[in-house]
Amino acid sequence: MEYQAKELFAKHGVPGTPGIVANTPAEAREAAEKLGVCVVKAQVKAGGRGKAGGVKLAKTPDEAEQHAQAILGMEIKGLTVNRVLIAPAASIEEEYYFSFLLDRANRQYLCIASVEGGVEIEEVAKTNPDAVKQIAIDPGTGVDEAKARAIVAEAAFPEALTDQAVQTVLALWKVFVEEDATLVEVNPLARLAGDRLEALDGKVSLDENAEFRHAEHADFEDKAAADPLEAKAKEKGLNYVKLDGAVGIIGNGAGLVMSTLDVVAYAGEKHGGVKPANFLDIGGGASAQVMADGLDVILNDEQVKSVFVNVFGGITSCDAVANGIVGALDILGDEATKPLVVRLDGNNVEEGRRILQEKNHPLVTLVETMDGAADKAAELANA
Ligand code: GDP
Ligand code: MN
Repeated sequence: MEYQAKELFAKHGVPGTPGIVANTPAEAREAAEKLGVCVVKAQVKAGGRGKAGGVKLAKTPDEAEQHAQAILGMEIKGLTVNRVLIAPAASIEEEYYFSFLLDRANRQYLCIASVEGGVEIEEVAKTNPDAVKQIAIDPGTGVDEAKARAIVAEAAFPEALTDQAVQTVLALWKVFVEEDATLVEVNPLARLAGDRLEALDGKVSLDENAEFRHAEHADFEDKAAADPLEAKAKEKGLNYVKLDGAVGIIGNGAGLVMSTLDVVAYAGEKHGGVKPANFLDIGGGASAQVMADGLDVILNDEQVKSVFVNVFGGITSCDAVANGIVGALDILGDEATKPLVVRLDGNNVEEGRRILQEKNHPLVTLVETMDGAADKAAELANA
């Protein structure tokens, strides 16, 4: 969210004014009393707030309270506004667009900059693409002062702002690298009265793969907006993504799970078009507890009608996985109510299958092949 992006900006020396976060109209009034003329800004993880009526100028604390009243609870792009940022109103002379992002296709970073920024930037990109500069950044060398100067020249920032713009570009690059971001965007980067350059808005996407070295980033998570099943899975350390089909999927290894989604979607075409309900990779250690945690998340998805457990025994052998499934069903007891189709293969598969056959659980169907199991799971989901 903007106010969080601005925290990161402040930390790395990007010029701007953080403002005050308010959760209620009364708090908005209080903030406005401190700041004077201000803007009341909806805080949601979406752009286009201005156009949606989520950014309003308030000349008095009364107005700030009224605007907050109107904006809090508003929906912008399907997201409910739970807080507003009260920022001191700036007198804007020009609005620029600036961003750094990860350019996966070209295996490099990219800077996008335009002196025609503001809420119409998408329109500018369409009708006047030459006004939006794209500057490749070699990930090996990054952005040093010379590169920052080259960017500022290419984007054609006004002379009077050159040095400020260079410093701002360097500071934004620090945000990008030191916070492990995949996107750092400022729109508008504004020229204020007196030729001051300030970031009036900010958007930062952080790379989850770098979470391990940024414990402090956990505070940025929007728990209220997270899918409850995904939140529960995350709490348990599971690699889970909710989808909207009816066949719950558990597998070990991201590649196997991705293939399983494809095979289930394909099999589903013969069974009323049923689709996978989720991605869930339980990784290497398929213990009873991990299996129980995974099943617990999946079985609590109301859309799930059947579950496909697809495990290839490697370092964790099939008998350990079979014991995991049996143990999980014991742990879950009456909470396990949906049919489970299990396909095991790989290390010690005979013993794994024997354990499941012996247990003969009424909900479990053992199928030898992946295609066969996908077909069975789709059939059960459609029944
Ligand atoms: P977005 O629509 O979600 O990108 O939200 P922004 O924070 O970019 O705000 C949209 C527009 O509101 C900006 O492009 C500015 O024109 C205007 N705006 C935002 N903050 C201020 C401010 O402090 N003063 C003034 N005068 N306008 C502002
Ligand atoms: Mn903006």
